[in-house]
Amino acid sequence: QFKPTPPLRSVAAARAAGESRTRPDVELSVVVPVYNEQSNIAPLLARLRPVLERLAAHYEIIFVNDGSRDETVVAIRAERAADPRIGLLSFSRNFGKEIAIAAGLEHARGRAVVLMDADLQHPPELIADFVAKWHEGYQMVFAERSDRAADAPARRWLARAFYRLFSALGEVTLPVGAGDFRLIDRAAADALGTMGERARFSKGLYAWVGFSSVGVPYTVAERESGSSKFNLRRLVHFALDGITSFSTAPLRVSTYFGLIISAASIASAAFFLIRTMLFGTDLPGYPSLIVSIMFFSGIQLLSLGVIGEYIGRIFAEVKGRPLYILAESLEPRIQADMGSG
Ligand code: UDP
Ligand code: MG
Repeated sequence: QFKPTPPLRSVAAARAAGESRTRPDVELSVVVPVYNEQSNIAPLLARLRPVLERLAAHYEIIFVNDGSRDETVVAIRAERAADPRIGLLSFSRNFGKEIAIAAGLEHARGRAVVLMDADLQHPPELIADFVAKWHEGYQMVFAERSDRAADAPARRWLARAFYRLFSALGEVTLPVGAGDFRLIDRAAADALGTMGERARFSKGLYAWVGFSSVGVPYTVAERESGSSKFNLRRLVHFALDGITSFSTAPLRVSTYFGLIISAASIASAAFFLIRTMLFGTDLPGYPSLIVSIMFFSGIQLLSLGVIGEYIGRIFAEVKGRPLYILAESLEPRIQADMGSG
């Protein structure tokens, strides 16, 4: 069994309490978040295992079951019965991929941690290239998708718009085409573990912690089976989390808007005053009155909404709830453990 995670403690608190699970004899940990992937577990392991076999004397594969509603857990338990190097962390409900990654990183014990999807869109063979770069001294090796042909055109366009907006606003720049498929050295993994924030935007966090990074190009494959779990609503929410976690620029936008509009209204007040003194009053102007009232109420609501987005996130953080709740955990065991009983 994993050391039971204290149920009411954040990642940061666990780190502060010195609960690092590092084991220098485990060369590689592979963390795979899974949500309704029952038919992908076996094909993934069939391709992943030979790769790891060649790369590391001791490795572990940790599945983080993110509240799957299908037989994913059953499939993982069966695999583990045959191969105890497979571990399982099972959430009590769906907490989202970002949280699943955080949990996997927290429990991984290897000298390097590889993150990958379960649907074989991330070719396991690329891990050999990751490890080669890691041995060269890079502490963060990320897969860089060379094309997005596997995505729908609308999603591709939105992704590109988001990257551009994020680098324009944020304090960190994201390498284009880099996702969660990556190798993270122990030092960087520990650094990521010190960040206990709830609205986790991993891509931003990877960039934020720094360390020497390098990209390895690859082509995204089609999903092995099942369908993508990210619909438009989830992607928009994800993008909002990303921007609000790494930038306060949207708050500043309303300040600037306010300044510009105030200046314009002073100018127009002066204009109307002078015109009225010279030519007297006239009644027409009703439509422009309505339009400007609607325009400014729109801006006010928008600014309130932006402030609300941030307050909502502050609220989520100050509640200090744990990142996730575990319903089940099976610690992976490597050869050395089994020798000693
Ligand atoms: N995933 C997860 N929790 C979720 C949604 C997805 O753990 O709430 C996992 C999923 O099982 C897969 C990975 O995250 O291993 C990527 O998901 P998906 O393939 O649906 O995303 P896409 O490839 O479309 O970006
Ligand atoms: Mg996928």
